[in-house]
Amino acid sequence: MLLRVGATSETVSLRDEVASLLSELIRLDTVNPPGNETLAAEHLGAYLERNGVACELYAKVPERANLVARIPGSGEGPRLALLSHTDTVLADPAEWELDPWSGELRDGEIWGRGALDMKGQVAASAVALASLAREGFRPKGDLIFIAAADEEVGLDFGLAWLCREHPEAVRAEYSINEGAGDRIELAGRPFYLASTAEKMSSPFILRVRGRSGHASMPSIADNALVKAAKLIERLGEFTTEPRLEPEVAALFEAVVGAPPEDAGEVLAAAQAVDPIAVEFVEPLLGMTVSPTMATASQKRNVIPALCEVTVDCRLLPGQTQAEAEQAVRETLGEGDYELEFIEGQGGTRSPMEGPLWDAIEGWVAGHEPEAGVAPICLAGFTDSHWMRDAFGTVAYGFFPMRHMDTQVATRLVHSANERTNVDDLELGVDFLRYAARAMS
Ligand SMILES: [Zn+2]
Repeated sequence: MLLRVGATSETVSLRDEVASLLSELIRLDTVNPPGNETLAAEHLGAYLERNGVACELYAKVPERANLVARIPGSGEGPRLALLSHTDTVLADPAEWELDPWSGELRDGEIWGRGALDMKGQVAASAVALASLAREGFRPKGDLIFIAAADEEVGLDFGLAWLCREHPEAVRAEYSINEGAGDRIELAGRPFYLASTAEKMSSPFILRVRGRSGHASMPSIADNALVKAAKLIERLGEFTTEPRLEPEVAALFEAVVGAPPEDAGEVLAAAQAVDPIAVEFVEPLLGMTVSPTMATASQKRNVIPALCEVTVDCRLLPGQTQAEAEQAVRETLGEGDYELEFIEGQGGTRSPMEGPLWDAIEGWVAGHEPEAGVAPICLAGFTDSHWMRDAFGTVAYGFFPMRHMDTQVATRLVHSANERTNVDDLELGVDFLRYAARAMS
């Protein structure tokens, strides 16, 4: 059988192929809201079908399509999903040096909204799939490419909806998504970070009641806002007993051979390794609470009978809201208030071992023999948790980044002048192709 090779031919390198595809994707405005991810899904679908990969669009509403493409497996092995999202956050052109939707290549970097988060990985995943298809690659389990809509806002147009309404299209035993892959130096040795777990986003409302009255006579009322102020102050001082989570223990094992014996020493031990290690370790010592929004009276001269404070709260993987509520109540003490959790998303983890973990280690060993792989748990959450929840998928965040400075990249995500290095895109394609082969 002759494989169709479309706009891309053998004379075009994978590097050029992924760079062009990323530029094209950036030029399609998929800022969410409103999203319009169908633009990206159709563009990717056309590219993949030119390369002999069967594609399917799944859309709850026409303009917000998800793309699922696959190289069918022989059924003898596990399925691997290359997971990504095509929507981006907004961009204000006034803050940028270049048009955020230019996709311009300048000094080896491609500029534009989504270059890092995460159209770069979208493009690399598509190119990995297309190039493997051109080579006649036959995996043991399906190799699936999922370019989902609506990750940045999460109003149920994307992977959550796919997992629920079209589970057979996206079911996979393993998946690779965004989340990590940064290369950092710890204790004098390079490490590539792989995210294997995520905290749970678990915001709650603190509701404080009082009695309204005319603001000119404060003594006849009971001001809910003033009562809330004391409680907000206590939340600002919230701390919990530090814990040693398995991902933190494994990070120490990888870097210095063993974790500290006492969880209370983790932060100091991380500091001794490198200040950058503190950034990965600190969110994992316990749940966090941050009061961020408050509403009280709608009128200046009316003393509020109700004050509602919205509190951002992040739980450790596996930690329950009941447990969290108890900790918050201990901090607030006795009093006339109510707590209501308004959501609970994420908070899942995958084992730090198995064939996909080995594939990451194998690629790193082959690519940079002196480097190691270290697991991290994300303080935020990604679409990976939908896969873990729905199918028990072993889901990792890993897209190697070696050429762009990690600290620079972190500051560019969701910010002005977002851009990615073409050398890293090429590296990403290489890793994804390696992982697909290793899993087969
Ligand atoms: Zn993202």
